[in-house]
Amino acid sequence: MIKTPPDQYQDIRDAVRALCAEYPDSYHRDIDVKRAYPQDFVEALTKAGWLAALIPTEYGGSGLGLAEASVIMEEINRSGGNSGACHGQMYNMGTLLRHGSPQQKQFYLPKIASGEWRLQSMGVTEPSTGTDTTKIKTMAVKKGDRYVVNGQKVWISRVQHSDWMILLARTAALAEVKKKSEGMSIFMVDLRQAEKSGMTVRPIANMVNHETNELFFENLEIPEENLIGQEGMGFKYILDGLNAERTLIAAECIGDGYWFLDRVTQYVNERVVFGRPIGQNQGVQFPIADAYIEVEAANLMRYKACELFDAGQPCGAQANMAKYLAAKASWEAANACIQFHGGFGFAHEYDVERKFRETRLYQVAPISTNLIYSYVAEHLLGLPRSF
Ligand SMILES: Cc1cc2nc3c(=O)[nH]c(=O)nc-3n(C[C@H](O)[C@H](O)[C@H](O)COP(=O)(O)OP(=O)(O)OC[C@H]3O[C@@H](n4cnc5c(N)ncnc54)[C@H](O)[C@@H]3O)c2cc1C
Repeated sequence: MIKTPPDQYQDIRDAVRALCAEYPDSYHRDIDVKRAYPQDFVEALTKAGWLAALIPTEYGGSGLGLAEASVIMEEINRSGGNSGACHGQMYNMGTLLRHGSPQQKQFYLPKIASGEWRLQSMGVTEPSTGTDTTKIKTMAVKKGDRYVVNGQKVWISRVQHSDWMILLARTAALAEVKKKSEGMSIFMVDLRQAEKSGMTVRPIANMVNHETNELFFENLEIPEENLIGQEGMGFKYILDGLNAERTLIAAECIGDGYWFLDRVTQYVNERVVFGRPIGQNQGVQFPIADAYIEVEAANLMRYKACELFDAGQPCGAQANMAKYLAAKASWEAANACIQFHGGFGFAHEYDVERKFRETRLYQVAPISTNLIYSYVAEHLLGLPRSF
């Protein structure tokens, strides 16, 4: 392992590393080949309380800050695992915590904290609107004490391994609202119930072993008490959760980055070609050194975002930039790692190609690199909005 000096989170790191060590490369490789869900791994993380890090202690969580939570995600990825299987459980509940009623919080949060219920899914993206979220077409129409939902979502992750989903739908058509960000609401959807009465799930086979789906709603009925917060405010509520999500994803990318750097430095030290370790060549050293510098720089921005978030300060700029820098750094580390493993980088048994596929996702989801550039251009540099 490359040397990273101990920090104030060392106890958390050691504990998460110890748990992850029970799930070696062969476990994650096998799950990937079978396109299965890492059930045992996720259960072990849940039982140990790691996924309830951000839930306040009064609801049975550990009440940790975003910095500590991010270290948990980082260590999962650094161990060779993929937090993408379970990160939703850590941050989706933030919407409920911030905007749910006292009764809703009391109803859901203790069971999410204990792991009895999984709230791993968030349904926002739609096939015909993509990143242009305010144009979503899924409608929830109030009828008596229920909302009746019709529409479609795409790329909705972990639906088959979750009990609940947070759903964003329009409760007022775009043409009826003054501002396009108005008229959307969020609901808690009981997934197993919904599958029996109006929601169809169609899995999407994809590059990563990531359980993600198309969802079709045909007169799906949701009880009115499942509305979170005020009707029409859902888009704002979703935006409120993005800083934590982006910072946690940044930490996962940093974990990936260190994983690639660990593997590639070990490999290039050992692999001898032309009578010397390939790591003795500058052409090999420099891209690895470059990736290391980028991972370290991304790490600083990730801690800056955490510090502001945990102090209750605005951190949109830092969270977005941390996600951008970390996703770029992990991708550069991935490229160096696969390149300097030569042909072996493509062999399943080295795990490099698996992690390479997994880390590539973060250039696109949950927000694409271009949209972060747009955010920086508009909000930090004062340039005209481009869309
Ligand atoms: C594996 C996976 C899991 C996912 N999980 C979830 C989930 O659980 N819940 C959920 O709601 N969504 C989920 N998503 C969706 C994800 O958030 C979107 O794919 C992502 O936001 C990009 O949206 P899009 O695919 O519609 O791309 P589009 O909006 O069609 O954009 C395509 C590309 O065009 C570029 N682009 C678009 N608009 C602009 C612009 N104005 N300026 C410059 N460039 C632009 C970007 O580079 C972008 O990558 C998931 C996606 C994947 C692949």
